[in-house]
Amino acid sequence: MSWQERYEGALMNTFGTPRLKLERGEGVRVWDDAGREYVDLYGGIAVNALGHAHPAIVEAVTTQLQTLGHVSNFIASEPQLALAERLLGLLGWSDGRVFFSNSGAEANEAALKLSRRTGRTHVVAATGSFHGRTMGALALTSKAAYREPFEPLPGHVTFVEYGDAAALAAAVTDETAAVILEPIQGEAGVHVAPEGYLAAAREVTTQHGALLWFDEVQTGIGRTGAWFAHQLPFAGGVTPDVVTLAKGLGGGIPIGATIALGAAATLLQPGNHGTTFGGNPVACAAALAVLDTIEHDGLLEHVEHVGKRLADALADQPAVTEVRGHGLMLAADLDAEDAAAVVDAGRDAGYLLNATGPSTLRFVPPLVLSEHDVEAFAAAFGGIVAGARADDRGGA
Ligand code: PLP
Repeated sequence: MSWQERYEGALMNTFGTPRLKLERGEGVRVWDDAGREYVDLYGGIAVNALGHAHPAIVEAVTTQLQTLGHVSNFIASEPQLALAERLLGLLGWSDGRVFFSNSGAEANEAALKLSRRTGRTHVVAATGSFHGRTMGALALTSKAAYREPFEPLPGHVTFVEYGDAAALAAAVTDETAAVILEPIQGEAGVHVAPEGYLAAAREVTTQHGALLWFDEVQTGIGRTGAWFAHQLPFAGGVTPDVVTLAKGLGGGIPIGATIALGAAATLLQPGNHGTTFGGNPVACAAALAVLDTIEHDGLLEHVEHVGKRLADALADQPAVTEVRGHGLMLAADLDAEDAAAVVDAGRDAGYLLNATGPSTLRFVPPLVLSEHDVEAFAAAFGGIVAGARADDRGGA
C-alpha cells in the first residue's frame, strides 16, 4: 500500500492527500522519503523560525523534558514564568499579563473570551482576515467558504474593508468590545496595513472604550524583521491592548500566547478560562530558545536584510507583477493564475513553495534563510515558472 493510500485510509480528509512525505530536516532544508532534498520557503506555514532541527531547540526541549515535562496550570514552572516575563519585555509592557495556550486559534479564542469580560459582545474584524478554525476564531475570520458550513457562529461580528479607516470608524460604537486586526494580513496574500490605518484603529477604539487587538500569530516573533509587526515604522508606534501569538513562537513546538496590557490584562479571572497544556514547560523552554537565538544571532537584522534581497529578487522576475510584505513575510503576484502549478513545478525543482490565491505566492521561510539560498532560488525561479507553464499544469 502506498503512503498516500495509508493516509487516505487513516486521516480525515481536511487537507486533501499530500503530495509529499518528509522524513527529516536541517536548517532550511528538508528531505523526503525518497531522499530528495528541498529548500523550505514555507517554513511549515511561518512556524519553523529557526529552521529544522535547530540545536538550540533540540537542546532546550531535551533538557526540559528530562527535568520536568508537564505540570498542570495549578502549578508554576520556571520556563512558563520566564517566557511570560520575556514576552512582556519584548513588548515593552510593564503591566501586561500572558495566557499560554497551544495554537493561534486558541490564542484568539482566549482573547475573544477576554473581550466578552468587558461586558460587551460586538467585535469588528476585517475582510481578508484569518484568525483560526475554532468556532470563536472562525467567527472573526472573513472567508465565507470557511465560515458558512459551520454557521451559526458565535457572537456579533461586523466585517469592514481592511485598510479603510473610515469604514472602521463607522463600525465601532460604544457597544464594541474589540477590534481585531492583523498588522499584515497573511492568509489573504500578505497585505500590509496602509500607513495611518493602525493609528486610526487605535484612535477609534480608545474613543469608544473598545480593545484594540492585534493578531500577530503569523507576523510575530521576528518574521517581519521586528519582534512584532506593530513595532515596525509603518504601524505608526501604536500600542494595542491585546496581542495574540503562536506559529514562530515555539519554532515548531505547539504554543500560543494571549497577551493583554493594563486593564485588559485582568479581565480574565479565576475560572474564566483554561487549557491543560497551556504553559507546558517543554513548549515554553522551546520558545525561550527561539527568542534567545533570535537575539543572540542577530536574526531581526538578518531577516530585514535577507528579506529585502528576496523581495528584490522576486521583483526582478519577469513573471512577477507585485511584491508585498516586510522581512521574511512576502508575497509575489504572478502575471497569470497559475500559482498552484508554480508550487508543483517548484517542488520538482527542489523548493517548497506556497500559494495563497490563484496568482499569489507567499514566502514565509525559516528566519535563518541565507543570502546564498535566496540567490540560488532567484536563479531557479524563471525555470520553475517556465516549467509550470510548459507543462500546462493548470491553474489553482
Ligand atoms: N491567526 C493568524 C493571523 C494566522 O495566520 C493563523 C494561521 O494561519 C491563525 C490565527 C490560526 O493559527 P493556528 O493554525 O495555529 O490555529
